[in-house]
Amino acid sequence: MGCRRRAPAAELLRIIAIENGAGHSLSPDPGRNRPGRGAHLHLDPACFTLAQRRRAFGRALRITTGAPDTGELAEYLRASTTTSGHPTGRGSQAR
Ligand SMILES: [Zn+2]
Repeated sequence: MGCRRRAPAAELLRIIAIENGAGHSLSPDPGRNRPGRGAHLHLDPACFTLAQRRRAFGRALRITTGAPDTGELAEYLRASTTTSGHPTGRGSQAR
């Protein structure tokens, strides 16, 4: 989503937007089973940064109430990509 690289679905993280009262926050959905409109992002902080810069989340998730809170998602990406240098978040991570 952020970049234009193609990747197999297994390497993409599903993201959904959750209403939090003040707006929306982005939440990772590694199990791909949570309801709602989803967007897909490479499990890669660089891709996340790009998507953020392009406001791609708001467009993909139809968020019209300002910039979504990306804190939870940023934390998830950091945790998933710093352990081995390779993405590990394939849906097995406990919360
Ligand atoms: Zn990407």
